[in-house]
Amino acid sequence: MRALARDGGGALGASEQAQLDARTRNTGRRYHTFAARLYNPWAMRAAKYLPDVLRILEERGDPAYRLEQAYLALTRSLIRDWEEATNLPRGLRAALSEGAPAASLELRRVSRATDGTRKYLFLTRDGHAIETVMIPERGRHTVCISTQVGCPMACKFCATGLLGIKRNLKAREISEQVFVVARDIAPERVSNVVVMGMGEPFLNYEQTLVALKVLNDPDGFNLAARHIAASTSGLVDKIRRFADEPEQFHLAISLHNPFEEERREIMPVAARHSIPELMSAARYYVEKTHRKLFFEYTLLAGVNDQERHVEALAELLDHPLYHLNLLRFNWTDTGFSATSKRDAKAFLRYARENGLSATLRPSRGEDIDAACGQLAAKDLRGRPAVPLPS
Ligand code: SF4
Repeated sequence: MRALARDGGGALGASEQAQLDARTRNTGRRYHTFAARLYNPWAMRAAKYLPDVLRILEERGDPAYRLEQAYLALTRSLIRDWEEATNLPRGLRAALSEGAPAASLELRRVSRATDGTRKYLFLTRDGHAIETVMIPERGRHTVCISTQVGCPMACKFCATGLLGIKRNLKAREISEQVFVVARDIAPERVSNVVVMGMGEPFLNYEQTLVALKVLNDPDGFNLAARHIAASTSGLVDKIRRFADEPEQFHLAISLHNPFEEERREIMPVAARHSIPELMSAARYYVEKTHRKLFFEYTLLAGVNDQERHVEALAELLDHPLYHLNLLRFNWTDTGFSATSKRDAKAFLRYARENGLSATLRPSRGEDIDAACGQLAAKDLRGRPAVPLPS
């Protein structure tokens, strides 16, 4: 129509008019489709997850369905190179490889423990090392993923906490850890994901949630929400927000001590949120979701493993949906030592006698420093196992 006006009303030739009509129709359909898709929650998630891919598609004027194809290639086919996505045109594959590479993490090393646990060391594109752990157990394959490079929470017994924070990971970097493990262990499948690696996930809430929703997406990786659990050191506003999310993800809260002062000594976050504030958020979570809530408790010799701790825990964890997860400490050079196996079992027995729902998780991957929440120290603190770029 604008062409007619510009020409001062002069008529177009029939074939020229037909071409213009076709172009207008196609363009209209294309942008209509893009708009429609971006208003649909699935497409909004794909756009948030792959902003670099979306930018390239828009710049090239590609149709909206290419975003879906790219998203499924990464999250369902688990490609690591756009050349593997043969349903995309060659020119688009080249443009994506140039501007939005399929792999945002480079796998540098896989360490295998004698009990079958595997630890993966990745490098981000800007040269940071992060770690991921895969724990095989009774037919399940649980992947423990990181959400930050380092962690600012500074829990005194945690090797990652000694590093401070370098940066948040992007949703793509968070979920890609699972995809790489899934490729590595195929034909076995990843059965569970726990967000208990490096970092406090609720300080990187938006990107973590995008990643978890992508892992849960039935059209993509398709891992059931109840097989995904996030863990927080106790950020109470985010616990409430997590409770309000529609997906049935599980939650674990790192408690580690039922006494206010003692908890502050090992977890600086406790100075920000008192135990009553934390328990109020915990109560909100179970009442809103009706899901079990896990309290993580790493047994540290002489610090939090006495009978009085059990008795205080029994008073504190007073809801039938609360569950106490006892963990044995994997040694790190933080000055703490592990409660003996015998004492840990006695702690568990006494907890149950006091009416607590409790389990003792065995240590895994001790010979490769693979404890969740105690990761990456060696590779980031000046004793690199691989040469890191400067
Ligand atoms: S235990 Fe978790 S929250 Fe605490 S410093 Fe380590 S990674 Fe951060």
